[in-house]
Amino acid sequence: MEVKPSDTIRFDTNPDRLQIYWFGTASHYIQFGEIALLTDPFVTAELEKHRKAQSDQLEVKRTFGRLKQPPDAIFIGHSHGDHLLDAHTAMLKISTWNQVPLYGSQSTQYILMGHGNSDLNDRVKVVKSTPYGEWVPLPISKQKSDKGYSIEYMALKTAHTPHFSFAPLLVDNFSFSGTLLDGIIDKPLSKPPTSMDYQSGEVYNFLFRFRHDNTEFIVMMLGSPMPLIDYPQSLPPQGIPIDVVFGLTANADNVNDYPKEQMERLKPRVIILSHFNNFFHKNADEILHIEGHPLVDIEQYLLDVQKIADYPGFEKIIVPAITEFDGDLIRNVILIDSKK
Ligand SMILES: [Zn+2]
Ligand SMILES: [Zn+2]
Repeated sequence: MEVKPSDTIRFDTNPDRLQIYWFGTASHYIQFGEIALLTDPFVTAELEKHRKAQSDQLEVKRTFGRLKQPPDAIFIGHSHGDHLLDAHTAMLKISTWNQVPLYGSQSTQYILMGHGNSDLNDRVKVVKSTPYGEWVPLPISKQKSDKGYSIEYMALKTAHTPHFSFAPLLVDNFSFSGTLLDGIIDKPLSKPPTSMDYQSGEVYNFLFRFRHDNTEFIVMMLGSPMPLIDYPQSLPPQGIPIDVVFGLTANADNVNDYPKEQMERLKPRVIILSHFNNFFHKNADEILHIEGHPLVDIEQYLLDVQKIADYPGFEKIIVPAITEFDGDLIRNVILIDSKK
């Protein structure tokens, strides 16, 4: 396997390639020319702050505040703190982001309403499961659409990948698996969310299509893979030419046949591993075990991903490093050229 460092770039808005920044967990900034999306903003690295549901304002500004171009929207796959905790800070405290909308579940909206900020409330949109296979256009500025840009998405309802499973205890076909904080929030919070309020809520995988004139990129945020036999519509219909899949790494062992089943169905050109912060660095605050069970057997997962990557059109697997800003240079950006 060839190993090479990620690219270092300077910011540009040429619509000739996809530029992907990863900020840890499931937080990706996906830029294509003058359009961009951000998924699951979460950079409050300190476990104690996370446990107390305190968004780290300095870290949010230090990270997202350095993006030269605000995203056209933020998408939230589910409402756990490691996906949602820093959204309100980014939306309210970064001055150039004062019009950025957020798309998430009904639970996501009700949790954010707990901050009691009417401007924030107006900017939070509830996604519905889209009719299977239909693209939903995302509103973007007239200036960008006049230049030939568009963004569309599909919200594909799934369930939260279990945090733990006890397959070895399989007795009479009974296996036990579970997800922590897997409740639904069914009414607006009346005060700022505590850690117990960050319940998963409804869970979505998102498919995004970025277009400019004749160039397009299709990107799948596979935030919560589940077995297709139980959740057939958690993946898009077969035959959509997918460029990039972000594949969940943490909890991967808890879904039978993941990643094989899902990747063989999606057949992306590029697989980017996601939601596991210790690929290259040991992070003292990364949770590696839940209730005594390892989050993932990372060696095995890497082997599993490599094993399936032999279908026509496959190009590469990317194990990402966290994007860093260094003056005008941006390090560890994943660049994806359009299909030849
Ligand atoms: Zn979660
Ligand atoms: Zn998570």
